[in-house]
Amino acid sequence: MYSARTHLIHGRAQTARWDFKHHVVPPLSSSVTYRLDSSHRGAQGFTDYGSDTIESKTPIYIYDRLDEPTRGMLEETLAFAEGGEAAVCFASGMAAISAAVMAQLRGGQEIIAHNVLYGCTFSLFHNWLPRYGIRTRSVDLGDLKALEEAVTPKTRIVYFETPVNPDLRLLDIRAIRAVVDRLNQGRSPETTIRIVVDNTFCTPFCQRPLSLGADVVVESLTKGVGGFGTDLGGAVISPAELAKDFMGYRKDFGGVLGPKSAWPVLVYGLPTLAIRIRQQEENALKVATFLESDPRIERVTYPGLESFPQRELAHRQMVDYEGNFAPGTMLYFVVRSGKGGENLGGPFIDYIAEHSYSITMAVSLGQVKTLIEHPYSMTHSAITSKVDLGNLIDPGGIRISIGLERAEDLIRDLKAALDAVF
Ligand SMILES: *Cc1c(COP(=O)(O)O)cnc(C)c1O
Repeated sequence: MYSARTHLIHGRAQTARWDFKHHVVPPLSSSVTYRLDSSHRGAQGFTDYGSDTIESKTPIYIYDRLDEPTRGMLEETLAFAEGGEAAVCFASGMAAISAAVMAQLRGGQEIIAHNVLYGCTFSLFHNWLPRYGIRTRSVDLGDLKALEEAVTPKTRIVYFETPVNPDLRLLDIRAIRAVVDRLNQGRSPETTIRIVVDNTFCTPFCQRPLSLGADVVVESLTKGVGGFGTDLGGAVISPAELAKDFMGYRKDFGGVLGPKSAWPVLVYGLPTLAIRIRQQEENALKVATFLESDPRIERVTYPGLESFPQRELAHRQMVDYEGNFAPGTMLYFVVRSGKGGENLGGPFIDYIAEHSYSITMAVSLGQVKTLIEHPYSMTHSAITSKVDLGNLIDPGGIRISIGLERAEDLIRDLKAALDAVF
């Protein structure tokens, strides 16, 4: 048995998707339509569609939006990476998330979601799904009682991210599974509640939600999996039975991942995933340790720190393929207020934006470049204006996605910004 790390580099050396035994690098295909040798073969292609996700027989390709080889090879490796039977790739993380919920729900049914979500997911659930009769109840899923109380006969999906964006609180996937299993007792197969987890922050290198009890994993390939920040993409990983619906949904709603965007994830993203994340984690720990020792910082949250409040859960849930603790590449910290009580998070980040060479102020995350942002005024402003989360999203809070630069350079730029605003 070869290790997962080796598999992410080589994929299936032989794949029914394409005979590429003479290619060292998988081909980037670029063909919208496919020659069908006979009307019989064309008819067979349509009949088979969506049923070839696990069997490794060569698919009958018809048209790019239905299925196509470069994306298909990426899907095989992604399914492996997440430990699922099938992966279905979409044009962006949001296309994957909307498909994962819409393909499973009907009007009149309900989602229970954690009260803090990626901003666009929050907007999807609260601004768009209600138009189709789908309601979302927001609860703190760290409180399992609250989950049980929010369930109604209409509930079909429990949805969350862990770590939660931006403050990196963890939700216990196994514990939520245990509650949902109890709630599912006595429900028919059509009314079963399924757990959908967004694994974008961790990437499959740091956490595999399917192995912890999730039914479906969604993730943005734009972030850590792609890793280089060149292309948007998203994936839904699930049992083959559910994948048929995701394939059908993708065919008709059309948000498919183009092969030109699948190729860099297959050729650069996944093969370098392990080494990038390990190095970025090493950097993140150094930066977190520096911030924790600086009196101008009120608190630092990084699952790799000894002081992390959910340390035990982090060690249980966030592990790489070899069982090593894998605390991820995201960290969150709160800059203290000034002497007059003024918020210095804004001035701090403005200083970085203007003067830092090694740290870039930008949204997004998981890249080889370190990216910093101010959730209160940027990514989470839509949420904070809609639901009362107490002081969860602090005006002084800063989120950093740690990249591959030398940690000492990142620390120097952070220190310069602190020196400038205090
Ligand atoms: C970025 C992100 C998404 C959306 O992904 P896109 O590829 O930008 O559509 C979803 N969830 C999380 C947690 C993200 O960080």
